[in-house]
Amino acid sequence: MATKKILLSENDIPTSWYNIVADMVNKPLPPLHPGTKQPLKPQDLEPIFAKELINQELSQERWIEIPDEVRELYKIWRPTPLVRASSLEKALDTPAHIYFKNEGLSPVGSHKLNSALPQAYYNKKQGIKSLTTETGAGQWGTALAFACSVFGLNLDVFMVKVSYNQKPYRRIMMQTWGAGVVSSPSDTTEAGRKILARDPENSGSLGIAISEAIEKAIKSDNTRYTLGSVLNHVILHQTIIGLEAEKQMEMAGEYPEIVIGCFGGGSNFSGISFPFLRHRLTSGKAIRIIASEPRSCPKLTRGRFEYDFGDTVGLTPLLPMYTLGHDFQPADIHAGGLRYHGAGPLVSQLRKDGYVEVQDIPQLESFEAGELFARTEGTIPAPESTHAIASAIREAKKAKEEGKSKVILFNLSGHGLIDMSAYDRFLSGKMTNYQLSDEEIARSLNCLEKLVP
Ligand SMILES: *Cc1c(COP(=O)(O)O)cnc(C)c1O
Repeated sequence: MATKKILLSENDIPTSWYNIVADMVNKPLPPLHPGTKQPLKPQDLEPIFAKELINQELSQERWIEIPDEVRELYKIWRPTPLVRASSLEKALDTPAHIYFKNEGLSPVGSHKLNSALPQAYYNKKQGIKSLTTETGAGQWGTALAFACSVFGLNLDVFMVKVSYNQKPYRRIMMQTWGAGVVSSPSDTTEAGRKILARDPENSGSLGIAISEAIEKAIKSDNTRYTLGSVLNHVILHQTIIGLEAEKQMEMAGEYPEIVIGCFGGGSNFSGISFPFLRHRLTSGKAIRIIASEPRSCPKLTRGRFEYDFGDTVGLTPLLPMYTLGHDFQPADIHAGGLRYHGAGPLVSQLRKDGYVEVQDIPQLESFEAGELFARTEGTIPAPESTHAIASAIREAKKAKEEGKSKVILFNLSGHGLIDMSAYDRFLSGKMTNYQLSDEEIARSLNCLEKLVP
């Protein structure tokens, strides 16, 4: 019988994260100070982030050691299995071999805990008492809530209003782990009050929630802010996914020609793909990496490579990224974790240099893929993860048309058990695709004019 799951032991948990900056041909452009528009000095970031995380953000070292305390906690659910999607292959009648890494097995249900634990750890080590953050669908907030409870830190989470109202279960998870949760935009910050004054019905966005969380961190004692995606240090922590998968693919006696991840800000996509992209950068190995983004939030497909703010109000450093503009208000799609206007600087530079392929997936196609995956492999995927599945299916179908065997690896970034209302809409035929016109995109890109001369 063929092996279904390729398993590692706890001793195989990697001892270092991989920093792709060391191997990039063109290094990412530096972040700029939002006021002076000059390259940021590390100390500019110290009111916002823990020092060790700033060091990692700017590091050029290829390998960065994982602290023992963090590896110990990773053991709660890591290493995660690499699974051969044999039933999905059969349903597609494809000669392709499809593998997925199951990051939905973490206690919080997604890959986000891979970075939440080290972020909480480095803040604790520095003597910080409280953290703030934002969350969209609640995945990052739940991960950080658990990490803060493990390390004895207070946590305030600004949760995007549309999710706060539609998805109470992740709010309750965060509260179970001891975090405070505020619906964003809120009247507890200046940034939130400004937006509510303009638009009292505003349903919120990640960009707005980030503005609120940063403001709260800056104005509170011994408090720092944390971000669950986009930044280099977050992507660094997520490489544990691909580093484990690298060993597991070797055990399976195969090498993935295509590596796929769904794309919000880039953390799970980079996490699974960068350790493999390293083979292409350092030894010319032929490998394709595909970022799967929602057609309704197509920063990599239709955005511009420019300096832009990470948030809506303009409190973050200016980052070089593919962006739809910080004013972009994404449609209320069910993949809440993919509703973000920009792509992280590392992915953006690699995309610009031709290393990253993109597929933009309509909402209905993503849920059709999720349904087929659930009916074959059992796990009901997170709405975000269904985008990666849809791309894997596209590639598997292409392999069939071409009559070629192909090895495909994708990341199952999370399970969807707390997103059943989205599946309900899909199953009842009420789900729609969103059309995004060129005019809308041009309008939201307007805010980039003269941002950086
Ligand atoms: C947050 C989230 C994403 C998107 O974030 P990335 O940083 O792009 O990975 C994708 N899938 C799940 C399950 C998430 O929780």
